[in-house]
Amino acid sequence: MEIGGDQEGVEDVVIVGGGIAGLATTLALRRVGVQALVLERSDQLRASGGAILLFSNAWVALEALGVAHKLSSIYPPLQSGYVTNESGEVVSHRTSQESNMKRPVRIVKRKDVLEAIADELPTNTIRFSSKLSSIETRTNEASSLALLHMEDGSIIKTKVLIGCDGVHSVVASWLGLSKPVYSSRSALRGLGVMPQGHGLNNESHIFLQDGYRVGVGPLNDREAHWFIIYNCTSLEEDEENMIVMDPKILMKKVLQMVANFPPLFLQLVQHTDPATLTWAPLMFRIPWDLMFRNLSIGIVTVAGDALHPMTPELGQGGCTSLEDAVVLGRHIGTCFLKDKIIQPLEVAKVLKLYAKERRFRSISLILASYVFGWFQLEGSFQRLKSYVRDTIFFKYVYQRTIAHVTKYDCGKLPVV
Ligand SMILES: Cc1cc2nc3c(=O)[nH]c(=O)nc-3n(C[C@H](O)[C@H](O)[C@H](O)COP(=O)(O)OP(=O)(O)OC[C@H]3O[C@@H](n4cnc5c(N)ncnc54)[C@H](O)[C@@H]3O)c2cc1C
Repeated sequence: MEIGGDQEGVEDVVIVGGGIAGLATTLALRRVGVQALVLERSDQLRASGGAILLFSNAWVALEALGVAHKLSSIYPPLQSGYVTNESGEVVSHRTSQESNMKRPVRIVKRKDVLEAIADELPTNTIRFSSKLSSIETRTNEASSLALLHMEDGSIIKTKVLIGCDGVHSVVASWLGLSKPVYSSRSALRGLGVMPQGHGLNNESHIFLQDGYRVGVGPLNDREAHWFIIYNCTSLEEDEENMIVMDPKILMKKVLQMVANFPPLFLQLVQHTDPATLTWAPLMFRIPWDLMFRNLSIGIVTVAGDALHPMTPELGQGGCTSLEDAVVLGRHIGTCFLKDKIIQPLEVAKVLKLYAKERRFRSISLILASYVFGWFQLEGSFQRLKSYVRDTIFFKYVYQRTIAHVTKYDCGKLPVV
């Protein structure tokens, strides 16, 4: 196939994956005048995964994308967050005064984040039921092209390819990044609805409880998100236990698990529609993989979980995916605005700048998230660990780290 010749049927930019990273990157590019095509293997936007915490860094990115107001107008800010240890002592208490007043933390339904972004995109931007199988690239001195082999046998040609295809990314594998590993932790999540109100008063709670880290957080007066994170040495064993076809059976298992948890938590789980329940093995990318490997090769790069799968203890996977999107939009936009055309070899240069900007941010978040989880869950050296956790980690490290990572500013998109 000729490259650089007949450009008919060649997309400017293809984004694989219509999750938070994929849609936000598409919108960032649209804001700077670049049209992208999203390929999503599912037949609709993902509705599962309940809700996520969005910290200040996510709000900065959402503002740059021009959609922050759509979510901040319907979700109230969290006023405070508590962490309580096994003996019922509050080991950490963070108020909204201590956090970023301008952009406070909010808990937001994942589906609403996706819809707020997708609504800004022209129709037909997202091609559903389109699964990428493999990638081929052709490059000469004048140009570059990626050929995307789809599961249905078709081939899509593009000048730029951005993999936002999640933890098990085909694009990340093509770049040579190693497969994410199981953290020996898994998570269960659900959405509780209390018609009379849950009484959480805009406060979130985390309880460290007999080898579990469990939490609740309000979305509004009636709905609240809850999660359970637990240790498990074998992914296969956990998968066998948790992957059940019938959500009602899973719900029964969860109710047995939480029988001795604090009443506030138990009540919410009891008021959960089994259809909102999800189980996820917590995966992360070994940080030195990101240190030494290529995060972009020519016209191909990755963003979101495809770049930095991390455990969720810092609540940063989605927030950082939004940062990635704006940084990509900033670099590709600056390049595009010079000639008003996508020049693959020029874009390849700015993708290197993107990779450079995101490398240490990704490494530090993966590491910090893993260490946060390690301290908070039972395991080896438990007594010593709990002592260090309550006297040093929660006193001096926990809130400072959260404040530090969430004050990150991904910048603005260039004005078109
Ligand atoms: C228990 C838990 C709690 C979390 N809590 C928070 C939180 O509070 N705050 C926060 O910011 N983050 C949180 N996260 C992390 C957050 O959910 C993820 O980081 C975020 O969803 C990543 O978005 P993404 O778009 O990169 O990936 P995904 O959401 O996984 O989207 C990837 C998309 O790509 C599609 N896809 C995959 N392969 C292909 C293919 N071959 N072809 C076409 N399409 C493909 C998938 O169908 C999917 O739609 C949490 C995660 C977990 C597990």
